[in-house]
Amino acid sequence: EKMQMASAREEKILVLVRLRPLSDKEILANEVADWECINDTTILYRNTLREGSTFPSAYTFDRVFRGDSSTKQVYEDGAKEIALSVVTGINSSIFAYGQTSSGKTYTMIGITEYAVADIFDYIHRHEERAFVLKFSAMEIYNEAIRDLLSTDNTPLRLLDDPEKGIIVEKVTEETLKDWNHLQELLSICEAQRRIGETSLNEKSSRSHQIIRLTIESSAREFLGRENSTTLAASVNFVDLAGSERASQSLSTGTRLKEGCHINRSLLTLSTVIRKLSKGRPGHINYRDSKLTRMLQPCLGGNARTAIICTLSPARSHVEQTRNTLLFACCAK
Ligand code: ADP
Ligand code: MG
Repeated sequence: EKMQMASAREEKILVLVRLRPLSDKEILANEVADWECINDTTILYRNTLREGSTFPSAYTFDRVFRGDSSTKQVYEDGAKEIALSVVTGINSSIFAYGQTSSGKTYTMIGITEYAVADIFDYIHRHEERAFVLKFSAMEIYNEAIRDLLSTDNTPLRLLDDPEKGIIVEKVTEETLKDWNHLQELLSICEAQRRIGETSLNEKSSRSHQIIRLTIESSAREFLGRENSTTLAASVNFVDLAGSERASQSLSTGTRLKEGCHINRSLLTLSTVIRKLSKGRPGHINYRDSKLTRMLQPCLGGNARTAIICTLSPARSHVEQTRNTLLFACCAK
């Protein structure tokens, strides 16, 4: 408890909001876009049919991205600095939060690719150090952790290692060689994620995907010597379950009992993020879910965190969009 108070974070959580454009299908269905980013930090609800409606219509964050912004912009203007802190030995986590179909996977895959490219670039520019870059990928589905790089379906266990802290036992770690290797691993993950479900969306809306890059480095001149020190850190790219899972289970009590409908990890994450964002967290319930326990070393303390909240602009999604913005407001 005391230790946690002493290491209370100085860095606040970076909260980014990304609006996606209306899809072709939505346009064909005569959907209307009711949300607009009026500058770099404010998003506005503008429903011309509901003049004088009572709920707040402007929301301000660290950064908001318009429907026509690119993933590269989202990366450069927010996620990059946090993802790259890994090369200097600082843990970090980047989350995509939002309802199903709002653009979480689209955003997260792009950001992972840009980050890997920059990390390779950094490695090539720092020949004085020897680096090892490792890639692992996991899915949390109904509070069971599965290895997305293995066909073995046995749930993975979390262990509290006296030296390394919380580790995922027996998870596959691939040493990342180059860009093509990354693409190969990402497609294995995608194929693994489809297994056991008839529709990808059905499962991906209920599961969390975590891609973890771990970097170890040491100064070449000290290699093999007793006094050589190794820097090690991880960055986690977390594509969360659809946020409609959190609001559904909150709003209907009966759902809480239906194993596949609650998403304990999503609810616990919301609580943890809310406490962390207050700055002086006191006790934090990391242990209440697999996701938060697994990410604990990459969430509190010195770790850096970004949350990218993805939004659909469609009028028919307004309730979920507002729920996502309320979550985003609590996190900032
Ligand atoms: P989620 O993972 O939140 O369920 P997806 O990332 O699968 O949502 O996005 C749903 C659809 O919208 C996909 O077809 C995706 O390509 C498209 N999409 C999402 N975000 C954007 C965006 N910012 N620009 C263009 N298309 C997008
Ligand atoms: Mg998805």
